[in-house]
Amino acid sequence: MIPQRQTRENAADPAPARDRDQINVSKKNEPIQSVKGTRDLLPAESPLWQRVEDEARKIFEAYNFREIRTPVLEQTALFARSVGSDTDIVTKEMYTFEDRDSGSLTLRPEATASVVRAYIEHSLYNEPGIQKLYYFGPMFRRERPQKGRYRQFYQIGAEVLGSDHPAIDAEVLEMLVLLLEHLGLKEFRLLVNSVGCSRCRPEYLKVLRKALDEVKTRLCEDCQRRATTNPLRVLDCKVEADQSIIEGLPKIIDHLCPECRQHFDSVTMDLQQRGVTFEIVPRLVRGLDYYTRTTFEITSGLLGAQNALLGGGRYDGLSEMLGGPPAPGFGFAIGQDRLVLTVEASATLVPAQPLAVYIAWMGEGARHEATLLASGLRRQGIGTEISYQPVKLKKALGAASRLQARYAIIIGEEEIASGNYQVKDMGTGEQQSVSAGEIAAFLTEKLREPLPAPQGGVAGEK
Ligand code: AMP
Repeated sequence: MIPQRQTRENAADPAPARDRDQINVSKKNEPIQSVKGTRDLLPAESPLWQRVEDEARKIFEAYNFREIRTPVLEQTALFARSVGSDTDIVTKEMYTFEDRDSGSLTLRPEATASVVRAYIEHSLYNEPGIQKLYYFGPMFRRERPQKGRYRQFYQIGAEVLGSDHPAIDAEVLEMLVLLLEHLGLKEFRLLVNSVGCSRCRPEYLKVLRKALDEVKTRLCEDCQRRATTNPLRVLDCKVEADQSIIEGLPKIIDHLCPECRQHFDSVTMDLQQRGVTFEIVPRLVRGLDYYTRTTFEITSGLLGAQNALLGGGRYDGLSEMLGGPPAPGFGFAIGQDRLVLTVEASATLVPAQPLAVYIAWMGEGARHEATLLASGLRRQGIGTEISYQPVKLKKALGAASRLQARYAIIIGEEEIASGNYQVKDMGTGEQQSVSAGEIAAFLTEKLREPLPAPQGGVAGEK
């Protein structure tokens, strides 16, 4: 690479002196903590996160979805226009800042708008057929942190763009249920509703406003405000005292236009034919403005207060809202933090893949062969750890069991002389001698055998 001379043009834009003075370096030597509402995912948790991602990828690809990765930074207008300028997300929860030269930017609070932006920006609508896209990644919302609710959280989502066929809604819901079943979840509920379209919803809103006028003084303060600013949100209220009043409000599924009604009936019939269990919940309206027709949520009783595991729906006008061609869409976002919590709580996951092999070598004379053996096994994809110093056998076996290795290979002077290594099964304690040349094949065969069944614990638990 040719080294570039630093010029004013290519130098990293230095912060103006005033800004630099304002950067708070806090007290030197004091530990700096992570930001409120964000957290580190430590190695002990990773196996579960990876397992969930692997399973999602496998199932999405079986349904012919392909991965898309969009930036975490977007223009603020993208979310103001799509999620809705009167929603909680846009009015209270976004991390928005003025960039030095690009105007207002926002750390994405969700990814559907980004996926649709990318679909338009790269003219994916010109590719034949519909687009089936999935994504993984962090989202940012300045909410009050609690268990299952974070300011940086992770979503696994998918979007189908380019068709308004009801079979898409049903197929995606079937795929989600399959994913949860594959992850061993049993206690979840699929709730579905329709929020109508730009033709029938305004008519319903008139009816709803009228009904709200009569009862609104008896509702909570937030709902009194929502009754005027965003009446649909009243249906979403969680305040106990409001529930009986809300139950009596008119239901949107009783006010759908014939097309929306037909769409909803087709989706529910298709779900029945696929054997997918669901409940119709007329109050399910969700917190983003772009939804049309089908909306849904999956909840889990294992989650406590924040019981929504995932949600989504149809968003037939979103592409046009963002300056694109008509491209009806349907998608969902799973809260990955919550999915991992649920999988953990249901304790059905197979144990984390422990380390396959620990190589214990004794005496300097064994270092070279042990190192070569480790390289050879790793090259073949066999997870291997090795001591960096010569160790005593007892200590080495202690390390192997702490690392949950399935096998320990013992190499001392005697083994070097005979060309046969000792292979100890750490589960059963059985030990056998295997010649150096055959050890990789021997282990590959052995490692194919399934791990013993878990004793009711979850991945990584001792
Ligand atoms: P939404 O994008 O609001 O439709 O949310 C989809 C899913 O993301 C929800 O069902 C939650 O599981 C998850 N989710 C939303 N907000 C948060 C948050 N602040 N922390 C953790 N998970 C969240």
